[in-house]
Amino acid sequence: MPCDICTSFPVPTTNFQEFETSVIRHGTLYKCKACDGFLEVIAEERAPRFLSVEEAKRLYSQTKD
Ligand SMILES: [Zn+2]
Repeated sequence: MPCDICTSFPVPTTNFQEFETSVIRHGTLYKCKACDGFLEVIAEERAPRFLSVEEAKRLYSQTKD
């Protein structure tokens, strides 16, 4: 579940680490430093998606434990 900081993405930006970009998905994966949750920002979409660890691993190759 996203934490309070996740739901206020993208501010403050210092709380989010850019993890990986996907050309195929037009997406950027971010990790919340507060809860270690993954967020995906799709270029065409206004709101971020909250991904489970399993989804992040499936969609982004460099995602590690
Ligand atoms: Zn969070």
